[in-house]
Amino acid sequence: MMDLKCKDYVVIVQCHIVKERCSGYNCERAFHERTGGFAVYPKDKAYRVLNMTCGGCCGRAVQRKLSNLARRIKKEEDIGKDRVVVQLSSCLTKDNFHSSPCPHLDYLKGLIAKLGMDMREDTFIYEKSEQRRKEGLYSTGSQ
Ligand code: SF4
Ligand code: SF4
Repeated sequence: MMDLKCKDYVVIVQCHIVKERCSGYNCERAFHERTGGFAVYPKDKAYRVLNMTCGGCCGRAVQRKLSNLARRIKKEEDIGKDRVVVQLSSCLTKDNFHSSPCPHLDYLKGLIAKLGMDMREDTFIYEKSEQRRKEGLYSTGSQ
């Protein structure tokens, strides 16, 4: 099991298309308040947080962006990638009223796994959407 106390960096990867109109506030707030996908993070630990988008479909840029980060933090501060956790935003992982999950989700997960970085899913969770997902009200029936 992943020990989040041993992580220093949280990298939130968000959908590039969605971020054209979203500030990312709900992701930031969820992290700040340790709710949704961040509920398991210890509240008393100060993490460094970095947001990035996937770079657009098919998400291939994630590999370049994350390997750039891994190189930079190793070189500049001797921080290994084992101290990084990648958190995939809910607009990428979840079905909701506005959109479906990323059609390239498995591909993105594969890229991150190939880099040897730990990864988690979900950021902000809207209660009403979660309820609707449980009731199977969204057409793709994902999660
Ligand atoms: S999960 Fe919500 S707040 Fe976060 S990037 Fe996606 S749409 Fe924006
Ligand atoms: S690859 Fe997925 S997460 Fe990235 S822009 Fe396309 S739909 Fe959004």
